[in-house]
Order: sequence, then structure tokens, then C-alpha cells
Amino acid sequence: MEYRKCFVPTCSNNSKNSPNKIIVRIREDLRKKWCRDVGVEYHKVYTQYCCEDHFDPKKDLKNYYQHKFLNQEPRLKPTASICCSAPNKSEESTELAKLLLQDTTTRKPVKRKYEDTIMPSTSSYSTLPVKAGL
Ligand SMILES: [Zn+2]
Repeated sequence: MEYRKCFVPTCSNNSKNSPNKIIVRIREDLRKKWCRDVGVEYHKVYTQYCCEDHFDPKKDLKNYYQHKFLNQEPRLKPTASICCSAPNKSEESTELAKLLLQDTTTRKPVKRKYEDTIMPSTSSYSTLPVKAGL
């Protein structure tokens, strides 16, 4: 059997360290969707595999028992769905967005008003030396 590695980024299962896991070749018609679901870039030319941790082998494999008992190549059903969406990633980014938003709204233009009140006194003060010279 050739070397197979699970395509899920957070999963380290492969045919070497988990020889007893089902690592199935992802159907071409499911691959785009699954890549999107786990946040992996889709490449047309690649063959990608997924280990049994991310789907329900009994439900999502066409030949689960044939694979188990007759060592058939496992095949996914067209209806198989991956149950590993990128964990917490979207939640984190919305939290960050909230923080950034708060930061900009709490900043108030205080400095401008202060400059305005200073200006008249400096302009009247500049006329003083001329009067003093007389
Ligand atoms: Zn996996």
C-alpha cells in the first residue's frame, strides 16, 4: 500500500503511524468541498486522502465491511460529509474584529479643541512688544 497522509491540517494521521486507520482517497466530486470545509487549498492535480477520524466510516463508506473483512480499497459515498471544520477559527477572527472596532470608536478628537482656545491669546500677545517699544 502506498504512503497516505490525512489531508486535514490539524491531523497527523498517515498510513505509517496509523496503519489500522482507514485512510480513504477523497472522491473527486467531494474534494473541492472538503478542502473548503477544512480550510485547505484545492489543487486539481493532487490526490488527497482523509482518515476515518473525520467521517463516519460505517455510514460514509460504500464498502466498509468489504474493506474491513476483505481488505477492499475503501470508497466514499457521494453523500459522505466531512465533520471536521476548522475549529474555532471563525470565532477567533470575529473576536479580533470586535477588539479592533472598539479601539477606533473610543478614540476621540480632543486635541483639536485645545488648539482652538490657544490661538486667540497668542495673536493678541504678538501685538504687545510693538506697544511696549513706543
Ligand atoms: Zn485525519
